Amino acid sequence: MSLLLTGIGELLTNDPSLGAGRVGRRHDAALLLDEGRVAWIGDTNAAPAADVSHDVGGRAVVPGFVDSHTHLVFGGDRADEFAARMAGEPYDGGGIASTVRATRAASDEDLLAAARVRRGELERSGVTWLEAKSGYGLSVDSEARLLRLSAEVADDVTFLGAHVVPEEYRARREEYVHLVCGEMLERAAGANWIDVFLDRGAFGVEEARTILSAGRAAGLGLRLHTNQLADLGGVRLAAELGVASADHLTHVSDEDLGLLADAGVVATLVPGAEFSTRSPYPDARRFLARGVTVALATDCNPGTSYLTSMTMVIALAVRECRMSVDDAVWSASAGGAVALQRRDVGHLGVGARADVVVLDAPRVTHLAYRPGASLVHALYRGGERRF
Ligand SMILES: [Zn+2]
Repeated sequence: MSLLLTGIGELLTNDPSLGAGRVGRRHDAALLLDEGRVAWIGDTNAAPAADVSHDVGGRAVVPGFVDSHTHLVFGGDRADEFAARMAGEPYDGGGIASTVRATRAASDEDLLAAARVRRGELERSGVTWLEAKSGYGLSVDSEARLLRLSAEVADDVTFLGAHVVPEEYRARREEYVHLVCGEMLERAAGANWIDVFLDRGAFGVEEARTILSAGRAAGLGLRLHTNQLADLGGVRLAAELGVASADHLTHVSDEDLGLLADAGVVATLVPGAEFSTRSPYPDARRFLARGVTVALATDCNPGTSYLTSMTMVIALAVRECRMSVDDAVWSASAGGAVALQRRDVGHLGVGARADVVVLDAPRVTHLAYRPGASLVHALYRGGERRF
């Protein structure tokens, strides 16, 4: 059944051949969705016939957001840690162990139910495609379990056995790296990606190179958490290995930005983490000026960014990372798609998946201009209306 959306006051297609600027902006537009895909785009007064036609009354429409970095499946929460941090104690990454304990102790049913609630919240903020990582199991069986559960609630799944060295391996790190590259990786065969947390208190450059190389040999795509807490040289490794995306990048040099741009590595910024850890925000304008492709993601996790709103991420990116609204919306949709190396989402060109968000606002600018407001009026995923 085909569906025609008419009366779109402002449409961002993210396809420069369909409208103005990199966001492909049009006004008084119409959009035809058919068999789960975008079938036609044009002016409302030139729209073709369809089985069902719906006038959105001048509202703005954007491509569904692509959240390319979440840790969606976990047990418990770390509200006390957040409160302590807000009271002045620094975050050092050590709190991950408490989530590992809570996650290992939780049942499949409880983990899935909680993850589905979070996915629902993300959807309410306009997310139509999302990635989720393991990383709170840190044993062969529990990592395999988290990957299996993640595949039930996420569209892309990432193996993050190298999140931190678990407590029981503290005195024998090499053995843990060996386990990640061996038995744990074998059980991660169904995942799309492998990721490493390369930072102070987590893994070093050589360990990350070993783990990512093993993942590549096993057929997984590469991603990297790096430069969140300190600069250990992770950007150079990301460029050397040609990872799809280097995420966080709170602390980067101009040389690092050149490496990312030249290697075509996406920089995924997660301002929810800076917000929740009261850290300085990366200046996205620096990245863009150097020609780096920027994605925005929630980094939804219980420790450092318990954020289930992409519209909040957009508002933070505009206000704190100095992005223009257009750049932020592009990065939260097309940018996330590039970070996941997907061509069918993050834009509304003909043939793209019909992942469409109708805003309760006449202009896309409202996403950053009215932070905290619930501005998603309707959401279509693969052409199906979710709400
Ligand atoms: Zn993360």
